[in-house]
Amino acid sequence: MPNIKKIGVLTSGGDAPGMNAAIRAVVRAALYQNLEVVGIRRGYKGMIEGDFIPMTSKDVGNIIQRGGTILGTARSKEFRTEEGRQQAYKNLQEHKIDACVVIGGDGSFTGAGIFSKEYDIPFIGIPGTIDNDLFGTDYTIGYDTALNTVVEAVDRIRDTASAHERLFFIEVMGRGAGFIALLSGIATGAEAVLMPEVENQEKGLIDYLNRQNKKSNIILVAEGSHAGGAAAIAEKVKEDFKDYDVRVNVLGHMQRGGSPSAFDRFLASRLGVASIEALMDNQRSSMVGFVNHETVLVPFNKTIKFNRNLNRILLDVADILSY
Ligand code: ATP
Repeated sequence: MPNIKKIGVLTSGGDAPGMNAAIRAVVRAALYQNLEVVGIRRGYKGMIEGDFIPMTSKDVGNIIQRGGTILGTARSKEFRTEEGRQQAYKNLQEHKIDACVVIGGDGSFTGAGIFSKEYDIPFIGIPGTIDNDLFGTDYTIGYDTALNTVVEAVDRIRDTASAHERLFFIEVMGRGAGFIALLSGIATGAEAVLMPEVENQEKGLIDYLNRQNKKSNIILVAEGSHAGGAAAIAEKVKEDFKDYDVRVNVLGHMQRGGSPSAFDRFLASRLGVASIEALMDNQRSSMVGFVNHETVLVPFNKTIKFNRNLNRILLDVADILSY
């Protein structure tokens, strides 16, 4: 057994629904192993500032259903500096924290990997981001909830788009990845999906609109799409379709909030338990992931180095079904 008596848990980077369920699972799984647990507030920023709170089983009661993160999250420039990380180490030592579980995205894992190399503190990562863009896991915590939020919003916009015979460009999150756009596009029957993984989609879109000549259309646009954001594309399309009533809707941060779906709660629970098992098994600098409905352990350097690719079959499905 490793010599771990006390662990820290933190949420870092962008928030995602299900992070609370993950905190709960980490805390309870750690207590089950007779470890003490400290919550680190506001990610690496709190680690540098020594913003720590002891966590008991009660402290994580009644949070599994809540969006956001009770620990708060932040992006910390200081943690990118040696001085910042040294201060963080001092604080961890002062509080006798032997290991950490970080819930976040690839940036958070990059920071954890660097820190763990500099100082002898094992880190295990749990993938928490709505973007689903991490290599080594089929799903990240928050993605399923965000997808359902987008589907509900697009269904509503579809009603008004049909009633007024409008062409809607709806922008969704995903950073450099099109997972949210593509899957929600399929699930809402969008006429087209524009995403970063596919180049030169504009001409195809114009041809499609000309060919179909539908009274109303929903075009989903991933925020990182090559063609630009929804507003930029709408401007270009307006030039060719002067009679169309073109509207733009940027869904924005509503995609990050809300009560996590059953799947995200389940995923967070599984990965939280797996993260503590990994620490007990002397593992470090790795992310616990979920592949083919089983938990797996993937080294940070792999999750960071490789991109998670879209399943090309899904691109075909979207194309076929909007024919
Ligand atoms: P999301 O996918 O939701 O954006 P993320 O974890 O990728 O989440 P980032 O802002 O990229 O979010 O990273 C979170 C934090 O990790 C940063 O604010 C920074 O403190 C730390 N971090 C990222 N990259 C590095 C690095 N190269 N060195 C040290 N720390 C880093």
